[in-house]
Amino acid sequence: MRSLALFLVSFACLGAFLGGAEHASSRTTVQQADLQRLYAQVNQESFAGKLPAVPVRWGNLTKDDAYGITHFKNEVPLSMEVDRSSVQSESFALDVIRHESCHIATIHEANRLKEDKHGATFAACMARIQETEAAD
Ligand SMILES: [Zn+2]
Repeated sequence: MRSLALFLVSFACLGAFLGGAEHASSRTTVQQADLQRLYAQVNQESFAGKLPAVPVRWGNLTKDDAYGITHFKNEVPLSMEVDRSSVQSESFALDVIRHESCHIATIHEANRLKEDKHGATFAACMARIQETEAAD
């Protein structure tokens, strides 16, 4: 029997967040409940509520060198983690959750097209989300 770990995929996401230092200056306290609320908000605003319900929680991603991680099993998202030490404002948490939400929305298509997890399909999702935001 093959190890379960072979079927678990996690995306450690760092490089896409160029605004990290800028975000760090606007410190507010973000609660665990806020993470779940922000995901629900992104799901409604940018994905018409079509993303599956996924538990979003704080994690320690220092060893992964990441701001956010989404854990998948066979393309099904199991959970999302946001790095507690580096993500200290709600606006930054929102950016991280948007990014991870695009992984949830595009993992199947990206795998089908054999693209990088941050490839064209993912980038198109992020661009669409940014446009949605700008249109408000
Ligand atoms: Zn990513």
